[in-house]
Amino acid sequence: MAGSGFRLGRLFGIKINIDWSWLFIFLLVTWNLTTVFSNIHPEWGLALNIGVALVASILFFASVLAHELAHSLMAIAQGVPVRSITLFLFGGVSNIEREPPSPRAEFLITIVGPLTSIVLGLIFIFLSGFAIPTVAGAVDNPAGALANLNPITTLFLWLGPINILLGVFNLVPGFPLDGGRVLRSVLWAATDNLRTATRWASYVGQAIAWLMIIGGIAMVFGAEIPLFGTGLVSGLWLAFIGWFLNNASVQSYRQVIVQDLLEDLPVSAIMRRNPPTISPDASISDLVHDSVMGSDDHAFPVLDNGRLVGLVCLHDVRGVDRARWDSTRVAEIMTPRESLVTATPDEESDDALNKLQQGDHRQLPVLQQEQLVGLLRRRDIMRWLQLQSGDDGQF
Ligand SMILES: [Zn+2]
Repeated sequence: MAGSGFRLGRLFGIKINIDWSWLFIFLLVTWNLTTVFSNIHPEWGLALNIGVALVASILFFASVLAHELAHSLMAIAQGVPVRSITLFLFGGVSNIEREPPSPRAEFLITIVGPLTSIVLGLIFIFLSGFAIPTVAGAVDNPAGALANLNPITTLFLWLGPINILLGVFNLVPGFPLDGGRVLRSVLWAATDNLRTATRWASYVGQAIAWLMIIGGIAMVFGAEIPLFGTGLVSGLWLAFIGWFLNNASVQSYRQVIVQDLLEDLPVSAIMRRNPPTISPDASISDLVHDSVMGSDDHAFPVLDNGRLVGLVCLHDVRGVDRARWDSTRVAEIMTPRESLVTATPDEESDDALNKLQQGDHRQLPVLQQEQLVGLLRRRDIMRWLQLQSGDDGQF
């Protein structure tokens, strides 16, 4: 989900983002509910039916947001920073910055999500409670009972079960679903090894994902699966969720391997030592002809009397018209020192990788007491990972 969407706002200091794919699912749910309500209550008229469906959709997505907020707030309480929450095609995701510090923390951060959904579901069912006599009084005629409900009761009676379903579905032990994270926290506590625990949780996740894909395809060809039913659309949808879960599961495991490989590895072990540098007074022509051509470097630290004053990269050069290369100095186009994110030689490489990814940087100047000692480039890390992992290195 590469940030294609818009910002809704901030809640408790956490950015709330909406991915464009979410609008699709929002419209789908609203349209679907309008159809359902229109069938039960033709007497309400189209406008009221669309209105009730719209309110139901909004409350449903507010419930999904509440589920994610529960994860995020518990993460913050456990000392793990949270960058943002994104609502997208399959619901919500909290962008929690790093792995929880302990199995206990992981268990707590995870379990509050499904619990919130289930408790919300029970509250909605409770709120629709005044309708129960009507429903109970018409056991012989359930359709008639539903038709007697007013709009607000209909709303609550739909929101209750859907939230409980959301909570229960998330407890399926397919990592990285909540249930898979609960499983991982238990395996982690048992083995005292996050990597082993993640590997097994990921295997279970992939197995469940494949069951969904196979089940979904079987539904397309007319098989009846309990709870999921049958048919082309439901089948494709289930297979699609399975495919997504499988990807997420493989990806999450890779992330943990990378973290594990880079932990305890100092930046100084993999950085580029003695990178080519340039003076702030050099012209862009000098930079291009003396440094850029004939090397495969993309970025050049700018040194003034041995002191780092900035970083200039090919991207900065491209922004300047060719005719002005002789008259423009490097100092005018470089990123100045105060805007640079840097690393130290003793820093752990996984922290440095986090810095690279968070700021979407391609390299970090490595400084020891403000002295430039090297440049840590993304590809230095990738190359090292390729050597270590022995696979194709597609991280
Ligand atoms: Zn969750």
